[in-house]
Amino acid sequence: MALLEGKTAIITGAASPRGLGKACAMLFAEHGARICILDLDQAAAQSEADTLPGSGHRGIACDVTSKSQCDTVVRNILEDMQTVDILVNNAGITQPLKIMQIEPENYDAVLDVNLRGTLNMSQALIPHMRERGSGSIVNMSSVSAQRGGGIFGGPHYSAAKAGILGLTKAMARELAPDGIRANAICPGFIATDITAGKLTPEMKAQILEGIPMGRAGKASDVAGCALFLASDLAAYVTGSEVDVNGGSLIH
Ligand code: NAD
Repeated sequence: MALLEGKTAIITGAASPRGLGKACAMLFAEHGARICILDLDQAAAQSEADTLPGSGHRGIACDVTSKSQCDTVVRNILEDMQTVDILVNNAGITQPLKIMQIEPENYDAVLDVNLRGTLNMSQALIPHMRERGSGSIVNMSSVSAQRGGGIFGGPHYSAAKAGILGLTKAMARELAPDGIRANAICPGFIATDITAGKLTPEMKAQILEGIPMGRAGKASDVAGCALFLASDLAAYVTGSEVDVNGGSLIH
C-alpha cells in the first residue's frame, strides 16, 4: 500500500547519501510522495533527488540556519509544486565536546542548525499548512536529548535536541486545532556519516555494549518511523517523541 500517494514532502539535510534524511526521502518516494531535498549544496541535493524512484522530485540549496533562505525556498517550492503536506526537519550537526570545551562558536553552530533550523523551516511552512488545514511535521531529535548525551555529541548537542522536543510539543499543542501534527523521533546510534570519522573503534564498542538489540541502527529503521508519523496512519498522533534506539534507552 502506498501511504503517501499524491503527497509532497520537504526533507532538510537529505543530501547525505547514507544519512537519515536520504533514507526518509527514499522510503517516502517509494510510497508515492514527491520529495524536495533541501541541503547546503544544490548539486548534491539534486543528484540525491535524481536517485529517488518516481518523478517530480527536487533538490534545492537551503541553509536552514537562515530564516530568509527558508522563507524564500518555501515560497519558491509552493509556486512550483502548489502544495506541501509533510516537513521533516532532519538537518543536523554534532560535535564530540565536553562541557568546558564548548566555545561560543560551537554553541552557535550546533544550536543554529538543529534548533533554529527546525524553527525556521516550520515557520516558513506553517502558514501554508494552516491555510490547508492539514500537515505533518516530523522533527529529528536524539536519544542524546533524553539521556544527556553519552553517545557522541556534547552537551550543546543534547541541549539542542532537547530543545527540539520542547519545540515539537509546543507546536503540536498550538497547531492541533489547525489540523497540523508535530512529532519528534529520537534515534539512538545509527550508522551514518554524522560522526565524520571521529568515532573511534573503542567508542563504537562502548556504545554497542549499551544497546540491548546488540547492533547499531540503520537509516532505514528511522525512515520507517518517519513514514508512519508523516502518513495518515498516525492521524491521531501528535506531540509524541518516538524512540528508535534498539532498546538503548527504555524509560
Ligand atoms: P548526516 O551528517 O549524514 O546528514 C546531515 C545532513 O544535514 C548533511 O547532508 C548536511 O549537509 C546537512 N546540513 C548540515 N547543516 C545544514 C544546514 N545548515 N542547512 C541544511 N542542511 C544542513 O547526519 P545523519 O546521521 O543522517 O543525521 C540526520 C539527523 O538525525 C540529524 O539531525 C542528527 O542530529 C540526527 N540524529 C542522528 C543520529 C545518528 O546516530 N546518526 C542519532 C540521533 C539523531
